[in-house]
Amino acid sequence: MWAWRKEILKLLLLIIFAAILNTFIGYLSQMLILILLGTLIRQAILITRLEHWLSRGAGGGIPKGSGIWEDIYYHFYRIRAAKKKRKKQLSKIIKQFRQSTDVLPDAAVVLGKDDEIEWSNKLAKKILGLNKSDKGQRIPNLIRQPEFSQYLKNSQEYDSLIINSPVDSQSILQLRLVKYGSGQRLLIAQDVTQQKKMEVMRKNFVANVSHELRTPLTVLKGYLETLEDMEHSDESQLLRHSLKQMSTQTARMQYLVNDLLLLARLETQQQKTNYVDVAELIQTICNESAQDGVNLRIDLQLETQLGLEGNKEELRSAFSNLINNALKYSPLNSKVKVIWKKQANELYLDVIDNGEGIAPAHIPRVTERFFRVEVKRPHKLTGTGLGLAIVKHVLMRHEAKLEIKSQLGVGSQFRCVFITKNRKL
Ligand code: ADP
Repeated sequence: MWAWRKEILKLLLLIIFAAILNTFIGYLSQMLILILLGTLIRQAILITRLEHWLSRGAGGGIPKGSGIWEDIYYHFYRIRAAKKKRKKQLSKIIKQFRQSTDVLPDAAVVLGKDDEIEWSNKLAKKILGLNKSDKGQRIPNLIRQPEFSQYLKNSQEYDSLIINSPVDSQSILQLRLVKYGSGQRLLIAQDVTQQKKMEVMRKNFVANVSHELRTPLTVLKGYLETLEDMEHSDESQLLRHSLKQMSTQTARMQYLVNDLLLLARLETQQQKTNYVDVAELIQTICNESAQDGVNLRIDLQLETQLGLEGNKEELRSAFSNLINNALKYSPLNSKVKVIWKKQANELYLDVIDNGEGIAPAHIPRVTERFFRVEVKRPHKLTGTGLGLAIVKHVLMRHEAKLEIKSQLGVGSQFRCVFITKNRKL
């Protein structure tokens, strides 16, 4: 602003000087033309100098100028210096990012809109076999496993994908896809071979121990039953009490072993499926839960006769666990609603009770193995703490999910949600 005023002032002074000179020698119009011409030529020279400087990339020192031009050059210089500084900072950040991603324990690959590789770290070469020269190539053309291509297409449906490493078939990889930016995705691959080995060892160990415990428990139970049935002439209170306790605990251990074996089977064995008449299955379970054939506490509503493609025995375990829990954790005089219905694309099994309910903090944990809510109850309730873990596993194997709604002191609703899409009904 000031620079402009100075320029105008300079011009005015020249005009005043010409006017004074005019009183002595005349020629005012010629002098004014000369002044304007001079000013124009000076501005043209300075503009040309600026254009030259900019066309050379505004490098080196700033050209000499005066007045407004000095200011213009200075502003250009400042912008250029700030840009240089930002560029330096950015390349420092990129360098740090590269260094940190190279020491990451996981392989990381940035994928573009068409799943083409935009960038990958060092480990991506080691565990996914991707080279720097693969940049720009579509990743499904390099990792040619059908489940991987499927995962890239429908990644929202899965949390992660387990595949064998394309470099070493003995290695197991866990892949995760994270969306970011405009259509880009970050693929993270972790070598989980060791974890998977440990998991298999744990599953085998539990399955073997449970299996080995079965026979001794059956023998023990047989002897205990014989002893309980025997007439004891000198039968003492202590002996009777001890035998009863031993029988109860042996039965408990048998339930535990059976549940553990069932869980091991659910985790390891291939599922055999058939068409299951769910309405009939639920009816049988409800009848079995009462001694005299009809359970008066259960209000059964079979709103659909549709069945499922699934494993009948697994579904029987899951449904009976839910129904027996509802009966167990609610007062003896209360009703339990069991509803089988269809809504839009889904089939629901609802088990609703007016029982003790579950505290919000415990709801996410009740499907964990051995998790039991310890609350004061009028009478002791036995259980293995494995029932809901079994339910969760069975539902997972049927591509279904368990939804739990519960309020302490009011009651609970356990809902099994089966999706009917692509399912033979
Ligand atoms: P278990 O019944 O053998 O203890 P589960 O895995 O079936 O084991 O259930 C885990 C825990 O969840 C139970 O101990 C109980 O505290 C709680 N729970 C399950 N079902 C219900 C229910 N219908 N109402 C209240 N609490 C329940």
